Amino acid sequence: MKICIRDVSVLTMDQNDTVLDRANILIDGDCIVAVAADAAFAGAGEEPVRVIDGAGRLAMPGLVNAHFHSPVNHLKGSLDSLPLEVFMLYESPALDAAALSPRAAYVRTMLGALEMLKNGVTAVQDDAFFVPSPSPEIIDAVMQAYADSGIRATLALDQPNVPELDKLPFLGDMLPPDLKAELAQPAPMDSAGLLACYAHLLDRWHGAGNGRLRAAVSCSAPQRVTPDYFAALDALSREYDLPFYIHMLETKLQRVLGHEKFEGRSLVRYVHDLGLLSDRMNIIHAIWIDDADIAMIAESGAAIAHNPISNLRLGSGIMPFRRLRDAGVPICLGTDEAIADDAINMWLVAKLAGLIHNITDPDYARWPTASEVLDCLIGGGARAMRQEGRIGRVAPGYQADLILLDLDTLPFTPLNDLKRQLVYCGAGGSVRLTMVAGQIVVEDGRVTTVDEAALRAEARDYARRFAGNQSEVDRAAAALSPYYRKMYLRAAGRDVGMNRWGGDAAVVKKYE
Ligand SMILES: [Zn+2]
Repeated sequence: MKICIRDVSVLTMDQNDTVLDRANILIDGDCIVAVAADAAFAGAGEEPVRVIDGAGRLAMPGLVNAHFHSPVNHLKGSLDSLPLEVFMLYESPALDAAALSPRAAYVRTMLGALEMLKNGVTAVQDDAFFVPSPSPEIIDAVMQAYADSGIRATLALDQPNVPELDKLPFLGDMLPPDLKAELAQPAPMDSAGLLACYAHLLDRWHGAGNGRLRAAVSCSAPQRVTPDYFAALDALSREYDLPFYIHMLETKLQRVLGHEKFEGRSLVRYVHDLGLLSDRMNIIHAIWIDDADIAMIAESGAAIAHNPISNLRLGSGIMPFRRLRDAGVPICLGTDEAIADDAINMWLVAKLAGLIHNITDPDYARWPTASEVLDCLIGGGARAMRQEGRIGRVAPGYQADLILLDLDTLPFTPLNDLKRQLVYCGAGGSVRLTMVAGQIVVEDGRVTTVDEAALRAEARDYARRFAGNQSEVDRAAAALSPYYRKMYLRAAGRDVGMNRWGGDAAVVKKYE
């Protein structure tokens, strides 16, 4: 069916950054076919056309959540702020108790998808981890939720294949024998098992929904996988042209880990030396990187996924935004997971990306502009997904992934500067319509694809039923957390030749 949005303002995000005051957008199937003042019914022919009145509204490309982990969608708000290494004890324990049924995984995935769609996110890169390990049934459940919700999604399996003890520094010397033996256990699934899961994901889902659903690969982080599995993932990524998700130097402890376990090299250099840095990579966080790391990343063509809210929630630090931009490194934005950015709201991420870097350099000429932030949010996301030229613009030939915002709302009244008000005012409350691949998935605050109220009720029911399992996770974490605290503080006090935290360096030094 053809859809015409009439008399609408348009932020095209095209190569000339065109903003149209009053235009018509014609959509045919999943594609935008015309954006112009006179395109109202061009080519409509005999087919039915739904006309949407766009007066007083802004059409713009849908937002891209370029880094996300759906498996904790149901745990938003459940933890105090903790550093990553301690936080992960609660977030991804390798316990059977944390495993869910396929239906629970479906409902959990849907919670995040609906929240994103209602806030104007049309595409998400889900770096999903599965505890204790993935299965074809759970992969199907997650992808079916994305299929049913209507969102554009890319799924990777974020699954380590080395024992916990090998991923972290100092622990081997700190733990009592029983806990040390526990953490030295092999990972729940070996690389052959994981690659079989990827074969299922690729076979069943890659390109499904007319290309709306795609696969990606993930090694989680370089220290969490063996070099042979890492290389196998790279080969898959190359063969199918898939994004490759890799967390690198999110925390100071990971910088210290390079000194301890990788012959003094940074994790970026370690991956470079393996010959695995590539333009397909989405390097997630990249906070504790130095100039040599930035040069290697720039040369590889990899993108950086910046998650400023998660980075504050977990006390990770501030990514060197301007130095990466100066080096020509493409940046996209993400929420990270729902217990590290409990809102799953890309408007809030964009606002913080526009603000946090102002306190890292007194030269205000180097602070991010609203235009740059929108470029990261939309164009950067499209590029990271390897969907550049397909999504990220309201322009003929692009997928009809767009949102309509009501400009007759307080965040846009009066309208002084569209881009600044998009980045700094409001938090998605003005979104009136979300369209993905030509399908209207949210209209006037209501999801059109699924019964949201029924899903919310089911999610509450699962939360009640699994409350006991969470206590088991909490008990296991409590046994380990004193040792993780000791490890964390030992790394915090190390001089690594840089500081990515705010505050007084002397405060850090006291942990030496
Ligand atoms: Zn992440």
